[in-house]
Amino acid sequence: MILTKLDYHLHTSYSDGEMSFPQLLEALEGNVNVCGVTDHFELNHPCSIEFTKDYLEAFGAFKDKALRLGISAHLGVETGLGKNGILLPHMMSEIEYVIASLHRVPLQGASSEEYWEAYKSIISDNARRGGFQILGHVEGYLPILPFLDRDPGFDKKREIERQIIEEYFTLDWYSRLAKDLEVNDIALEIHEPSKTPRLEVLDIMKRFGVAFSYGTDSHMPEQVSKRSYLKRVIQELDLKESDFLDIETIRSKT
Ligand SMILES: [Zn+2]
Ligand SMILES: [Zn+2]
Repeated sequence: MILTKLDYHLHTSYSDGEMSFPQLLEALEGNVNVCGVTDHFELNHPCSIEFTKDYLEAFGAFKDKALRLGISAHLGVETGLGKNGILLPHMMSEIEYVIASLHRVPLQGASSEEYWEAYKSIISDNARRGGFQILGHVEGYLPILPFLDRDPGFDKKREIERQIIEEYFTLDWYSRLAKDLEVNDIALEIHEPSKTPRLEVLDIMKRFGVAFSYGTDSHMPEQVSKRSYLKRVIQELDLKESDFLDIETIRSKT
């Protein structure tokens, strides 16, 4: 495993990505040597895949071709987190690992404080419960749209996110979360597009022995080669291969 050449979070056009499997492979070549395809597989998610024969065959062909290019490809899914657990429609033996990310807070008309407290509670409760291998974009791609009249665009959303996490996502909260993640063997995702979690959060996780995962969360080919936040994190926190989840050795125990 070469640290800068892994990517455990990728989407295809079977969910909300814009890449077919052949297009994804073309984008991965030269950039990645271990990867996981993680299309949305989530109850009530508008772009959730169905685990059809067609999907599994397309993945199988992709995996074989990838191997010939020296890329080891795995089949994961990205699901959601709800109050009572992960929002996986059902388990499939083909699923090697599950990324769980909180995409929607089931709370309406709440104040900002109530909303983010609810968000954090759902994360904490699920970390304690376990049943997934990676906690996805915990402080990136936050569900902020209920507070906005219209979508303000990618950069503005990241700026709003920064303010929210500075205000509500305290390092104290992360220390408590770290213990549960470590006990339940849940890796924390370093999320390239949102450049999160913050370095100080990753530092706490490292001290508690939480493993890291890494994902570009790519939906389009040009996103696959981006690695700037990963490189910065590896350098600043002096991360080693042993600090990362090794996808070759896990098999989902959900
Ligand atoms: Zn997500
Ligand atoms: Zn994603």
